Amino acid sequence: MKLITLAAVAAITFTTSAFGNESIIPVSQEIKDTTVNLRDKAIKDDSAYEILKSLTTEVGARHPGTPGEKAGIEWGVNKLKTLGFDKVYTEDVKMNGWLRGIETAEILLPSYQKMVITTLGRSKSTPKGGLEAEIVHFKSYADLEKATDGSLKGKIAFISKRMEKFKDGAGYGPAVIARSKGHELAAQKGAEALLIRSIGTDDHRNPHTGSTNVAMGYTAVPAIALSNPDADQLIRLIDYGHTPKIRLNVQTQDLGPIVTKNVIGEITGREFPDEVVVIGGHLDSWDLGTGAVDDGAGVAIAMATAALIKNNTKERPRRTIRVILWGAEELGLIGARAYAKARQEDGTIANHVIGSESDFGAGPIYGLQSSSNVSDNALHVIDTMASLMGTLGVSRRSGDTTGGPDMIPLSKLGVPALKLMQDGTDYFDLHHTPDDTFDKVNPEHMRQNVAAWTVFTYIAAEWPGSFK
Ligand SMILES: [Zn+2]
Repeated sequence: MKLITLAAVAAITFTTSAFGNESIIPVSQEIKDTTVNLRDKAIKDDSAYEILKSLTTEVGARHPGTPGEKAGIEWGVNKLKTLGFDKVYTEDVKMNGWLRGIETAEILLPSYQKMVITTLGRSKSTPKGGLEAEIVHFKSYADLEKATDGSLKGKIAFISKRMEKFKDGAGYGPAVIARSKGHELAAQKGAEALLIRSIGTDDHRNPHTGSTNVAMGYTAVPAIALSNPDADQLIRLIDYGHTPKIRLNVQTQDLGPIVTKNVIGEITGREFPDEVVVIGGHLDSWDLGTGAVDDGAGVAIAMATAALIKNNTKERPRRTIRVILWGAEELGLIGARAYAKARQEDGTIANHVIGSESDFGAGPIYGLQSSSNVSDNALHVIDTMASLMGTLGVSRRSGDTTGGPDMIPLSKLGVPALKLMQDGTDYFDLHHTPDDTFDKVNPEHMRQNVAAWTVFTYIAAEWPGSFK
């Protein structure tokens, strides 16, 4: 109650001072004209789609510790150079690697059936040849919490909660706890393994992989996701009064310490080269598909945006545009955390003017949201961005944002952020599955994304005022 009152008073004070404040710096007509010109070029430009085609075809999956990841990093450096970025470099990031191996599952009783599964990130292996046990069904993580500790000895805990589909991905949060922390809870209850319904919204026979809350080593028990139709099959058997007995065999490998990289390309600012606008996507991907919507699309959108601005303006924008192809996002924002920590230590965090990441697939953008730490004196700039995105079907939205997963560590250190909100209705049909491939991406949507990103990025780099 007290907090709300104080915040309300603060808001009124700031608003009042902002209205009477001569220090508000307008977005000049020249900036607006250039922005419109860039936007209208971007909407006809297929370079992001072409970049994505190259990444997903000539490289493919980019899971840390694999040759694909190495090839992806090389691809990133070469592509940024080819696109004419002023500065291209990489930064080493230390992490612990993990690889999947064999993964099979069968229903043994009461009716034989092969199931389609995938191993979750950093899962430990089952005994060689697999483990056979009856499953115990829980409708949610919360239901498994209610079981008595140690009561699942010799059993496999099965959590069947289904992720709900929303445009903004709001179903992910409530469902994903089963994936991230279910293994610990299953171990606490004495289970031999954790089996979850995939965190995904499709009805195809594709399992969805994803990370657990383990940073190094292995999960407490083997942790496995099965496709939605296979989860439904188990539930039907249970509804008929059976206790299904299944065999799970997953073999995985802890790679120990490995090095990944953030790949960085810059368009150097003409007036304030040390001030940076950060945009990007994550270069790593899960290993099942080719990482097209997660997050090759984001990588391609950011690269194409910066290149388009460089190629279609007489001079470089005032500030530096720093495109970061983040490393090892999927295993816990590892590249992003290392980047933010290094900037905090060397003091350059203060030079980060504003940032955003594209990491929600390749659907069209419909909204523009800003973080609550954007100064009242700069809100009119965000409104201008939104209005110049209006022809693209984008409108200004309320709420707070960290600007995307890899922006979270920077956001925590006070860097203002924007979110270019994408329609993610179908995103979790594909997310972390073998179906995350280039053919799912609509070139028209990619152009619309780059057009909106161009508006944000150019104005952020060219408008001379402060967002803080
Ligand atoms: Zn992602």
